[in-house]
Amino acid sequence: NIMQLSDDPVLQILPFNAKIRFPIPHPSDKGSIMYRHVEYYPGDPILSLVETFKNDPRPEKVNLSIGIYFDDEGKMPVLESVSRAETARAATPALSPYLPMEGLDTYRSAVQHLLFGKDNRALAQGRIVTVQTLGGSGALKVGADFLHRWFPEARAYVSDPTWDNHRGIFEGAGFEVGTYPYYDPATVGVKFDEMTAFFNTLPEHSVLILHPCCHNPTGVDMSEQQWDEVLQIIKTRKLIPFMDIAYQGFGGDLDSDAYAIRKAVEMELPLFVSNSFSKNLSLYGERVGGLSVVCPNKEEAELVFGQLKFTVRRIYSSPPAHGAYIAADVMNSTELYALWQNEVYVMRDRIRAMRQKLYDVLTAQIPNRDFTYFIKQRGMFSYTGLSVEQVRRLRDEFAVYLLDSGRMCVAGLNASNIAYVADAFAEVLK
Ligand code: PLP
Repeated sequence: NIMQLSDDPVLQILPFNAKIRFPIPHPSDKGSIMYRHVEYYPGDPILSLVETFKNDPRPEKVNLSIGIYFDDEGKMPVLESVSRAETARAATPALSPYLPMEGLDTYRSAVQHLLFGKDNRALAQGRIVTVQTLGGSGALKVGADFLHRWFPEARAYVSDPTWDNHRGIFEGAGFEVGTYPYYDPATVGVKFDEMTAFFNTLPEHSVLILHPCCHNPTGVDMSEQQWDEVLQIIKTRKLIPFMDIAYQGFGGDLDSDAYAIRKAVEMELPLFVSNSFSKNLSLYGERVGGLSVVCPNKEEAELVFGQLKFTVRRIYSSPPAHGAYIAADVMNSTELYALWQNEVYVMRDRIRAMRQKLYDVLTAQIPNRDFTYFIKQRGMFSYTGLSVEQVRRLRDEFAVYLLDSGRMCVAGLNASNIAYVADAFAEVLK
């Protein structure tokens, strides 16, 4: 009962009793159906829009779509603190061995100090474990894989709306992902009562993906008082908070942006934190991030740490070294840290100034409308309140690119384009 599969010697080595579905054309055959069942991937909508922008010939064009910080000259900055660390490192050529699965020790402790504060009691108690990850995305992936493996019944919930990849990463890890009420277009604020009522219906161990500061995409954050209330519900209902912080320092300051994280630790919640240095160190391509898990005690922390390492091992084995060395060198030097902190605040203040300018122009041109939300929102993003039609008009008539949701990356504004963009906004809003 030997089947003659093909004249190709590679296909002939299949055991004769292998279960095979016919026909099996050789991949090199014309008209192969090898991959025809593979679903077409239309691409990421944000990255596709960036391509359209690049091909737009109009010289006045402005890109406010992608989540990257640009300086006042419209360039991605090289931070002085980073550049000094790079120069110092380049002076002594070094080998590049594998890092351990969990990443670089000096980097991991620097991440812990930044997120939780150097004097955090839980750190001293050895209850917090941190692994270095491939950016914030890698941290979300490692955390989601870990949670799905050890809490297989749990569902995950993301804010409505959220950064698209939250859903993608958690679904990719096997979770069923739901949404919780968050943004209220009527008030350009948080649907706080609806959200807390929803949290109060969730079963134990439901995973909540939360933005501790600078909510992406809306720019609408909760107040400290609101956080206190939410964290109390999380504690009472035994939910699992997963805080994703990608813009630390862009909202209030480096410490106050970590308010929700530190409060959750103080309340002894079983917290997950994913953090990213893509934006605040302007090190997008180096993929520097971290995943921290706060555990009830040192023994459980050791169990979790072991499984996090194992999770990493099974995805990419160990993280890249260079970015972690640079981030650690910046954060572990008193001088470079002070320089970096100041550079983060320069970025934050420039974004704030752009918000203010937009508010001033729009208020002057459309005085009967309240634009205070532009100055209240925090971080790089703003839900502008523009409709899809208005967004399309901005793109077609003015070459100003926003996402269809009306999300604008405020960091794409600068002294040269702000007046033009503000006038264009006013034009489509009138
Ligand atoms: N989380 C949020 C909310 C983000 O906005 C981003 C990036 O835009 C990330 C995570 C991912 O960060 P990274 O680029 O470091 O993977």
